[in-house]
Amino acid sequence: MDALKDRRSTIDQIDRELVELLGRRMAAVREIGAYKGQNSDAPLHDPKREHELFEFWTSEGARAGLSSLFLGRILREILAHSRRDQERHLRPSSSSRATGLRVGYRGAPASTSDLTLDKLLPARTDAPVEKVGFETFSAALDALESGEIDYLLLPIENTLVGSIHEVYHELARRDVYLADEEVSAVEHCLAGLPGATPERLLTIRSDPTTLQQCSRFLRTLVGVTAEGWYDPAAAAASVSEGGDADVGVICSPDAASRNGLHILEHDVSDHRQNNTRFVLLSRTAEHVDPRLPAKTSLILSVNHRHGALADCLQAFARHDLNLTKLESRPLPERPWEYLFYVDVEGNVDDERMKAALDEIREYTGSLRVLGCYPCRTGGEPVPALRPRKVVEAAPAAPTCEVTDQAPRVKPAVGNDRTLASLPESGRRSIVRVGPAEIGGQRFTLIAGPCAVESRRQIMESAEVVASAGAQVMRGGAFKPRTSPYSFQGLGVEGLRLLAEAGRMVGIPVVTEILRVEDIDAVAESADMFQVGARNMQNFELLKALGRLRQPVLLKRGMSATVKELLQAAEYILAGGNHQVVLCERGIRTFETATRSTLDVSSVPVLKELTHLPVIVDPSHAAGRRALVAPLALAAAAVGADGIIVEAHPHPEEALCDAEQALSPDDLRDLCASLRPIVEAQGRVM
Ligand code: PEP
Ligand code: MN
Repeated sequence: MDALKDRRSTIDQIDRELVELLGRRMAAVREIGAYKGQNSDAPLHDPKREHELFEFWTSEGARAGLSSLFLGRILREILAHSRRDQERHLRPSSSSRATGLRVGYRGAPASTSDLTLDKLLPARTDAPVEKVGFETFSAALDALESGEIDYLLLPIENTLVGSIHEVYHELARRDVYLADEEVSAVEHCLAGLPGATPERLLTIRSDPTTLQQCSRFLRTLVGVTAEGWYDPAAAAASVSEGGDADVGVICSPDAASRNGLHILEHDVSDHRQNNTRFVLLSRTAEHVDPRLPAKTSLILSVNHRHGALADCLQAFARHDLNLTKLESRPLPERPWEYLFYVDVEGNVDDERMKAALDEIREYTGSLRVLGCYPCRTGGEPVPALRPRKVVEAAPAAPTCEVTDQAPRVKPAVGNDRTLASLPESGRRSIVRVGPAEIGGQRFTLIAGPCAVESRRQIMESAEVVASAGAQVMRGGAFKPRTSPYSFQGLGVEGLRLLAEAGRMVGIPVVTEILRVEDIDAVAESADMFQVGARNMQNFELLKALGRLRQPVLLKRGMSATVKELLQAAEYILAGGNHQVVLCERGIRTFETATRSTLDVSSVPVLKELTHLPVIVDPSHAAGRRALVAPLALAAAAVGADGIIVEAHPHPEEALCDAEQALSPDDLRDLCASLRPIVEAQGRVM
């Protein structure tokens, strides 16, 4: 017995030395990592050097009588760990943070999310981390957006159940970015209190997805009820606290042991291979060192041009970029249209990626770059696309602060062009509002009252508008009035009435949005959002509309230059929503004979600068009924894509802008006089 003890103490001594040596090796690795962090020219991976290392280990190992297979496995582990450790130095802002980080996850302690954070965080930060569990995805995202936490880890897809649409759905509409990814193997075991046996269990708790993944096993247990819980680890905690040996749980082995439960059966999942991919979210887009293999995630919808999806995919292929994921999802608000989740291997700062994103904008109705992050799926590291210097032009903002200056993902367009710029191809965008296409061959007529006033008024208006042949109906529910004593609109009730009227005559509706808080209500009722002149530079509103996938009619501010109008549009485009129509509605000049001065020249000027459709509002420019038609004709003559005019079934009774409202007859006459001018432009009415 003593002899065995002696031999073991020899092993203990050797292990101590081994661990000590590994520690020293890691310290040396870190020093090199710091050097690589400061010298962006230094290669991150040196295949020649790695090859030499393997050779060295093999020959040394042979002399010591060790198998090269065995040593190779150890060395691969060491190198993988070292690479990961060095990454910290390539992300200066987060690694040098002295104060602690708060990082959120969905679930309870010892859930797969929690354990995944333990794997992911060491590669990102030295700072002490406080982990915070949340019950729902949306509560966790609220905490991230409000700055309560610095990062958030959420599951995004699973090898058994596919994409987690609830998370994608939230990502599409939140102002957050993907900063990293991690894959974790999920192991489901059946656990219970000490003394519990599988036969005695009456109830088994877990989250619905886990229960679904173990359905075959559950069917073998007769008379057992499956009970849904928000998270398997939380279910384990509840079983532990409840003290009832009839209740079991399906959770990870870690969650079982952390909660003092016994494992009654291992691996109860229907499939042995069960992996979940998680993403780490942050409030600002982070830049990935060009030497690291990176991935870029996108959410996009394609426009209705024939072959748009194929063109999109070809753009990536042309630039030699590999797609690792393409999944489509129906858009509930637009039947038979789809949203695509796309992952592309490559860095968003790489010229090839910029060029591809630039090209696909032509084919997409909306495009949101969810983020660029180090690629951790797949086996051996893929070499970075094209090593070059760390981009200095766009420094990453302090990673963990809420700041309005946080860099958004910069437009992936070359030189000084913007997302709104007319591309070299000269190709112009068409914005679809229901069946109407603004910017296409047909000149668009949008008409309707200034405000929704009553059920009767809006229903009558709808008849007038539809019989005049308008493609879209307007009507304000929230009215921005110069005087607080003027009629302010019917609000949500007005939205409801407008939607009903539009449905009655079968044409889409546009209405003005004044506040971010009303976006959901307007999105439910209207087909297009209007941003009025007074809100053209309400940047928070523009940013929020950028995250939507509904078209926006952006009116020029009364004292805004053409450039400022385009910059306002850029806010919406930068958020990923490309469906923007610009509207010239007159500007303030010294002239008082008209309500505003219609800047007719802005139309051809805008056409030179942007691919976005441009329409004209002669009503608010003129302020007087008699001037609306001549200005509308001028708009058509200078190449506008359409007009938006105010019309009322009984103009004299209008509660708002009565002097400029066209009567039903006026509207019909206007259409008749527009036709020859529109046709002379090579378009149709
Ligand atoms: C409107 O269209 O109802 C409106 C208020 O217009 P503008 O924002 O151009 O003044
Ligand atoms: Mn008006």
